Amino acid sequence: MNKFEYAPAPESRSVVKIQKDYDLFIGGKFVSANSNKRFTTINPATEEILSKVSLANGKDVDRAVKAARTALNKTWAKTKPKERAKYLYRIARILQERAREFAVLESLDNGKPIRESRDVDIPLAAAHFFYHAGWADKLEYAGFGDRPRPHGVVGQIIPWNFPLLMLSWKIAPALATGNTVVLKPAETTPLTALLFAEVCQQAELPDGVVNIITGDGSTGAALVNHKDIDKVAFTGSTEVGKLIACSIAERGIPATLELGGKGANIVFDDAPIDEAVEGIVNGIFFNQGHVCCAGSRLLLQENIADEFLIRLKDRMTKIRVGDPLDKNTDLGAINSSAQLAKIKEISDSGDKEGATLWSAPCSLPAKGFWYPPTIFTGVTQAHRIAREEIFGPVLSILTFRTPREAIEKANNTPYGLSAGIWTEKGSKILWAAQQLKAGVIWANTFNKFDPASPFGGYKESGWGREGGRHGLGAYLKIGKGAK
Ligand code: ADP
Repeated sequence: MNKFEYAPAPESRSVVKIQKDYDLFIGGKFVSANSNKRFTTINPATEEILSKVSLANGKDVDRAVKAARTALNKTWAKTKPKERAKYLYRIARILQERAREFAVLESLDNGKPIRESRDVDIPLAAAHFFYHAGWADKLEYAGFGDRPRPHGVVGQIIPWNFPLLMLSWKIAPALATGNTVVLKPAETTPLTALLFAEVCQQAELPDGVVNIITGDGSTGAALVNHKDIDKVAFTGSTEVGKLIACSIAERGIPATLELGGKGANIVFDDAPIDEAVEGIVNGIFFNQGHVCCAGSRLLLQENIADEFLIRLKDRMTKIRVGDPLDKNTDLGAINSSAQLAKIKEISDSGDKEGATLWSAPCSLPAKGFWYPPTIFTGVTQAHRIAREEIFGPVLSILTFRTPREAIEKANNTPYGLSAGIWTEKGSKILWAAQQLKAGVIWANTFNKFDPASPFGGYKESGWGREGGRHGLGAYLKIGKGAK
């Protein structure tokens, strides 16, 4: 039978207007950076320059923190909780109204397939604002004690894998609880955060409640180390998380850190195999594997391993790799040349250390940054590909004989963010979930997110939780009578 071919189904790029350059968003206005420096942001699928954004220096960070402090004292602290909620609802509605614009911009700047930015990133970002809008006037009844109060000015730093979604995870709970924020997006994906700044203006959010400063690691460090920050919220690498933990320890301010992971997806021999194959594919190839909670280690029960691998490879040959703006694309571009180099370096180590690499046959575009969907078999726990976070479309496959061995292998990692369990037995799900040291555990599914569900890790995967009631607590000073 002939291979079924999809006709191109490109989303229109013209729904979004990208400016030639962008200033910083401080005190409700776009202002030029003191540094006078800019850097480019590109489309990783084509290497085309999309725009130039400002590189904020220490003085710019100081201006943004001052604007957030003034807004806190002059307006936001005096805004009634139910009024705060109205702004959050407004932002949520505007995100929905402008969803297509945001989705296209996210795919252009990040390289992720439009199907994911359209169906996952943007709807979930709006859902976070809706969810937290509902909490704003109910904090006194949420078990946080008599009078839960905001920390004050929060410094927030986000990564490039889910730019707008991570922004919403940070800004929505901070505003609902009465804090003001200075947020720094990642250097390779600043554009949706800058479009969000326009949404703040459109929603008539009081000036300075949200400040967005673009820059690199030096900007992030200046923000974290600023003396007038009352709390830090960070999502990114474990290395930078450790630096931040040292910096804030000296000052005694609270922080939430959402860091790396090496999630295990465990498939028992009684699992429904086709569903499990689908879940494993989703667990590692969703968002090009640029997911801290990705199921990047597959643990297969030995007696089903051969059959499972045949079906997994067959399914992987059907993954469509290519233009992120094509609605049929499953796997888009790797976010940057630096990330591609990292993926290649760790994958090469797998080859050298004796594991067997297999990539789905696919033709990769000549320009841009690409990596095919890849698996390694014959992996041992000592291999780097089994221990280190690759943050790309690369799955390391190990086998096990008994459930206890599966748990031991799954927990044998410095991380503890996510895990997946595939079995038809409810009792096995409960037993395994109790043994696994992971903050988020999915059973017979993977990568499901909801604003009401707390997310976070054990060990080197981070501190604290984001989302749900637990996530709100991280933005509050909790008083007498707290549960
Ligand atoms: P990744 O390796 O995934 O790019 P990073 O942890 O380097 O993750 O980056 C995540 C975010 O942290 C980005 O916004 C980046 O600019 C910022 N960042 C990098 N270095 C520092 C630092 N020393 N202090 C604060 N933020 C930083």
